[in-house]
Amino acid sequence: MEETARLLREIEEEFRATAGYTGRRRLSPAVREALAAVPREEFVPLELAEDAYGNVPLPIGHGQTISQPYIVALMTDLLDPEPAQRVLEVGTGCGYQAAVLAELVAEVYTVEVVRDLGEASDARLRRLGYDNVAVRIGDGGEGWPEAAPFDGILVTAAADAVPEALVAQLAPGGRMVIPVDGPQAGQDLLLVTKEEEGEVVSEPVLPVAFVPLVRPRVRTG
Ligand code: SAH
Repeated sequence: MEETARLLREIEEEFRATAGYTGRRRLSPAVREALAAVPREEFVPLELAEDAYGNVPLPIGHGQTISQPYIVALMTDLLDPEPAQRVLEVGTGCGYQAAVLAELVAEVYTVEVVRDLGEASDARLRRLGYDNVAVRIGDGGEGWPEAAPFDGILVTAAADAVPEALVAQLAPGGRMVIPVDGPQAGQDLLLVTKEEEGEVVSEPVLPVAFVPLVRPRVRTG
């Protein structure tokens, strides 16, 4: 499709422009194919379908957004996904990132805190035939312990720190991509790697702007 080809060209351009930060000049062929395969217009509100192939974030209701395609591409690429893997996503939103992951790996687990969004995405993913995605309503900051460990974890809302529960659910050799509040203003996209021996290494990749990760269970006592 012409619109998809144009969007992929824009993503490739932004990859080149940000390579100084990210160290990645090119989108990997597998991620490129996955982006080309997912019908993005199915994931945006009907009235915004015309804008579905712009390289911009869009509102999806409940004060939430569908991430900018370049960011989806970058986060997916940073995971270095492989076909046999199992991946956890925190922040399903409209389900677009989950669908991209579902094109690349064996199993996707995704957690959304806003019930309406999670249920709508579950229905949408099923309608589009993504039967390797499981959707759960709840606090993604706690991960999905019964399905752990994960080869990859992708968090699409900004945390104040890397949640310990998620680090614990990362398999040895696994990678997590997560936006975290920076030391001053703004957020940094972090690549967190758990080495085979269990050591955890975290590197900042790019300054970003995500909606905050909400904490549904606020302790009062
Ligand atoms: N992944 C989406 C973008 C989602 S925007 C995409 O493909 O475009 C971030 C999402 O994270 C929102 O839907 C928001 O409701 C959700 N969210 C925020 N805090 C959360 C939490 N603690 N657990 C799970 N989801 C959360």
